Amino acid sequence: MDVSRPKPPPISAGLRGRCPRCGEGHMFDGFLTFRPSCEVCGLDYESFNSGDGPAFFVMSIVGILVVGLALWMEITYEPPIWVHALVAGSLSIGLSLALVRPLKGVLAALQFTNKAEQGRFR
Ligand SMILES: [Zn+2]
Repeated sequence: MDVSRPKPPPISAGLRGRCPRCGEGHMFDGFLTFRPSCEVCGLDYESFNSGDGPAFFVMSIVGILVVGLALWMEITYEPPIWVHALVAGSLSIGLSLALVRPLKGVLAALQFTNKAEQGRFR
């Protein structure tokens, strides 16, 4: 790999699921599983661990949006409860599935860029 080449912006690389070092290799193998390493530059992905971070951000973002929409719908239209269940249920599932992979990519790319790792006793 050309080391003089600038690193891609971590948020952009993470959102696209691309390698945070070269910006070209794929980070994911499947929906949420990291590949062992980058197929272009060989960056080891085994050390990437975003933990519960993506789930936390997905819950927060989706929760605020869906609850806000439900309140607005109730105040504005007063729909029956089945409309709330249908809209909130489908939006919660759809938005969660749409956001979890890009957010996992962003957190992993930020972890690599900022050299974040487990704390150790010396
Ligand atoms: Zn790479």
